[in-house]
Amino acid sequence: MSAEGLGYRIGLEIHVQLTEAGTKLFCDCKSNYRGMAPNTNVCPVCLGLPGALPVPRRRPLVLATAAALLMGCEMPTEMVFTRKHYFYPDMPKNYQITQYQGGGGAPICLGGRLRYYDPDLDVWRSVKVRRINVEEDPGRTEYEGSIQSSEYAYVDYNRSGVPLIEVVTEPDVEGPREARRLVEYLLLALDYMGATNPRLEGSFRVDANVSVEGGERVEVKNIGSTLDLERALRYEIFRQSKIISQGGKVRRETRGWDPVRKVTKPQRAKEYEEEYLYFPDPDIPTVPIKDLVAEARPLLLRTPERLMEAIVSYGVRQRRSWALVVTKPAAQLFLSSVRLGAEPRAASRLIAVDLKGLIKKFGKDPNDPSSWPGPETIARLTMLVASGEYTYDEIKYNVLPAIANDPMLDVKGVLPPKANNIDNVIDEVIMSEVKAVRDYLDGKAKALDYLVGRALRRMAGLAVDPKAVRTSLEERLARLTSGTQ
Ligand SMILES: [Zn+2]
Repeated sequence: MSAEGLGYRIGLEIHVQLTEAGTKLFCDCKSNYRGMAPNTNVCPVCLGLPGALPVPRRRPLVLATAAALLMGCEMPTEMVFTRKHYFYPDMPKNYQITQYQGGGGAPICLGGRLRYYDPDLDVWRSVKVRRINVEEDPGRTEYEGSIQSSEYAYVDYNRSGVPLIEVVTEPDVEGPREARRLVEYLLLALDYMGATNPRLEGSFRVDANVSVEGGERVEVKNIGSTLDLERALRYEIFRQSKIISQGGKVRRETRGWDPVRKVTKPQRAKEYEEEYLYFPDPDIPTVPIKDLVAEARPLLLRTPERLMEAIVSYGVRQRRSWALVVTKPAAQLFLSSVRLGAEPRAASRLIAVDLKGLIKKFGKDPNDPSSWPGPETIARLTMLVASGEYTYDEIKYNVLPAIANDPMLDVKGVLPPKANNIDNVIDEVIMSEVKAVRDYLDGKAKALDYLVGRALRRMAGLAVDPKAVRTSLEERLARLTSGTQ
């Protein structure tokens, strides 16, 4: 329901560049052109030069297939490409190679469903997916100042031919906030699957279709952030509802989102599909989907949902598991530190709440793995808490800021010193572990590992060098055998 009490419908077209594919869709130019001088990531194919033949590259197709599998789509038996004709300077062939349902064409996905996590309410939701297309991105036209005032239009073809998937949902997205959450989840899933890096400028854009009860459908184009998507939808629902409630008519039109003024503005009149003259591209051979599926399936082992399940299985709450998963290096760090013996709940709080907060506070990027300490640091800190040596807050206030500032810092150097005497502990271990001591003296070298472990456990939380413990133990045991104790 809208602010004015009228019902509404929201459908999304989410365009995601497969920035991590390595190559463009039909040539070996790079899929990620950021930082390159204009028109240096180009070749005869992506410049559309006469006689150049596009040849589908494997990785983009595999990644697109993985996206289709993620959404449980109905897939054709062959990957087919279609020409969509229109004229624009950033499109040198005068057609875009895309996918289209009909006229002998077929999209990679028809009729799927995307499950996504809603962290605000801690629930899973889903939206129906109408189709997914694989297509090439056009180049870019740039102007000096505005399109009206610029003397020239500059065209940069670095982006021309970069693989894109277009995910089209049914108009059953629950609301603006849900729209934002579903796009965030989709991007994260594609990030984990190695398909895209959503943090790269221009790596995704969303067109949103919104209609309010009693009005026609309005398309809002080129929304470049998930926060802007939520804002644009709220704005549009309010604008349309107001017109309708005042007795006006909302006609079908295309609008653009102005991220600076935070409003939508009218754009050109919408073209209709038949104006594009779609037909299957005769230059591009079809690719059997079966082989692509076999290659794509392993990528689905790394979805956010799977990772959240793994983290929850350690006794971490679902919402906290999301806070870890949403920042890739944080999730990796959690899993590796738990493998090293970190107490999972303390580790999840340390990483996802306090350390992440400090990293952001210090102006560092939590998505950069080098902002984080190693797993042994996390394991050690949680063991200090678990052993009762330090309280969580002592660690949080005395140790974490230093580590957030310098992740390579040795925890030992930061910990408040605690008195300890290795020799006394070793004496205690030798007295209490009679069987292991006898085994060792009988020649079972492995028993020494056990004794070292017992000694370390007694000193959990202290700045102990395990090698020193081992050496001391060996010396003491050697003295036992020679009878000079
Ligand atoms: Zn190229």
